[in-house]
Amino acid sequence: MTSFNGSNNGNMHNGNGANGKVKQNALRVIPLGGLHEIGKNTCVFEYGDDLMLVDAGLAFPSDGMHGVNVVMPDTSYLKENQKRIRGMIVTHGHEDHIGGIAHHLKNFNIPVIYGPRLALAMLTGKMEEAGVMDRTTLQTVAPRDVVKVGQHFSVEFIRNTHSMADSFSLAITTPVGTIIFTGDFKFDHTPVDGEHFDMARLAHHGEQGVLCLFSDSTNAEVPGFCPPERSVFPSLDRHIAQAEGRVIITTFASSIHRVAMILELALKNGRKVSLLGRSMLNVIAKARELGYMRAPDDLFVPIKQIRDLPDRETLLLMTGSQGEPLAALSRISRGEHPQVQVKPSDTIIFSASPIPGNTISVVNTVDRLMMLGAKVIYGKGEGIHVSGHGFQEDQKLMLALTKPKYFVPVHGEHRMLVCHSKTAQSMGVPADNILIIDNGDVVELTADSISKGDPVKAGIELLDASRNGIVDARVLKERQQLAEDGVITLLAVISTDGVMAAPPRVNLRGVVTTADPRKLSLWAEREITWVLENRWNQLSRNTGGKTPDIDWVGVQREVELGLQRRLRRELQVEPLIICLVQPAPAGSPAYKGRADAEPDNRPAPRNGRRDAPRAQQQPRPAAASAAAASAAPRQAPVAASASVTAAAAEPELAGRVRRRRSGAAG
Ligand SMILES: [Zn+2]
Ligand SMILES: [Zn+2]
Repeated sequence: MTSFNGSNNGNMHNGNGANGKVKQNALRVIPLGGLHEIGKNTCVFEYGDDLMLVDAGLAFPSDGMHGVNVVMPDTSYLKENQKRIRGMIVTHGHEDHIGGIAHHLKNFNIPVIYGPRLALAMLTGKMEEAGVMDRTTLQTVAPRDVVKVGQHFSVEFIRNTHSMADSFSLAITTPVGTIIFTGDFKFDHTPVDGEHFDMARLAHHGEQGVLCLFSDSTNAEVPGFCPPERSVFPSLDRHIAQAEGRVIITTFASSIHRVAMILELALKNGRKVSLLGRSMLNVIAKARELGYMRAPDDLFVPIKQIRDLPDRETLLLMTGSQGEPLAALSRISRGEHPQVQVKPSDTIIFSASPIPGNTISVVNTVDRLMMLGAKVIYGKGEGIHVSGHGFQEDQKLMLALTKPKYFVPVHGEHRMLVCHSKTAQSMGVPADNILIIDNGDVVELTADSISKGDPVKAGIELLDASRNGIVDARVLKERQQLAEDGVITLLAVISTDGVMAAPPRVNLRGVVTTADPRKLSLWAEREITWVLENRWNQLSRNTGGKTPDIDWVGVQREVELGLQRRLRRELQVEPLIICLVQPAPAGSPAYKGRADAEPDNRPAPRNGRRDAPRAQQQPRPAAASAAAASAAPRQAPVAASASVTAAAAEPELAGRVRRRRSGAAG
């Protein structure tokens, strides 16, 4: 279906072409996300004219990213090189590995995506929702399958163990050698689903020779072996058996093994199960359909009917383990859930640990639930959660089996990468053979070298709740301004011949200030007067017709900017300012204002404006020296230049609101 055009260039062409430093005949590995963070894992493999993707995940917003739903990597590099994309490999179905795919498919096609059955089933749902099913072909793989991607890559899927079922490590054969890409893993010798880590294949590749290992660094700081997933079974069993009333459990829906054990325990303890939260319902339905969980149909009871059963015979399994504000358990903790209210006899179990960044919302949720009288079981030491990522000894075992020549720690924050590199050195990998890289860095590998090439563009793209709207840096900044300092709206009535025709109306929302409203409207008046006196010539243009061409948006911006500077100077606040101008007919009587109320000690006209008549200006000083400059001459009022008919009375809303500027003038 897709012709791999241009490949007769073979490996002489690297596609980048931006500079002469691209190493010929080198394998290029470029993570676009997943480094110096946990999340949005997205990795590019390139050789010659072939480009292959491994995973494409999302990350969740940090504090201050108001109204941002998900964080995606910047994919400019992929958009620029989309003709060379030969296919994608998916290691497993966690959101930080597949959550970006449906979004990216809106921007570029991917000829084929190979991945495990469960991950692709979950991906299908997301792709249907996004309407991008026709943008790619999904191909399910089984353990030890080998697929060819482009001319230069073949990828073997090696079964591994992780908190998600049906997860794989990869052995990627390339012209320069074999790469082991671990994906997320731990060594769990008693996996819940009986699917063992295929260590024999890792050892096989280790024997044959592994050029480079890219390994999961999540728990690089934690000594020892990661306990097996099964180890939480007895503790969960004990807490469920001891519960007097209802049992409420929260965990990640995608922690398939954990959910499977919880269902098993519900059955064992004679409790019916209700599921709450969209992802919990979706993932469990998919996992049961595909046979990753075995639970009888009559174990499940809809939430509306479970109230008819005695509390001792019920278990509610729900989302909200990260304190996400809209998830079921968070809403219950705030008393905002339509079907479930907390009872003092409830036992609530957090079978998950907070992702860094979520800790505060999790502890707040725990507090609220405790205040409602419930028994809450959470945190380390309760034996109710283990990680899905290997600890130091797991990481050593991976290094021991694969015996790589070169090593690149991935999937982790910076300190984890550093820790992991020390572990590798302790295993005999020379420091010179290890690279610690960042998103956008290019690892160039040949049979006998590893080095960093020139980086490619990498960054973040923020999506709102619709997952279509991009929250750009300007929008985010405005939201931060709103959250921190509130908003001021200002309505100015200005005639088309440049006269203030009515007193400005000022409204404050969320602004903390010692200034009284009278003072604020006086300042607004001064700004408007100043703009009319000093800017009107540039902002209105007599085009010869009956109506002058007035840049109302420009007028608004000038007023906003001036008021913003004054508020910063006088009150040290930086609210968002929105100025609306209502045009009035030419010849409207001028509102005289209260210019006499206070001497105008405003400095001279500002500079640095694109349209400013520089000859008449002095630099506008920074706040500190404002007073010194107060004697600067003001311009004479601008004569109204237009003969006009009545202008539209529609207020014009500024299309854009000025962003904050740095303190100094110009
Ligand atoms: Zn994972
Ligand atoms: Zn992951």
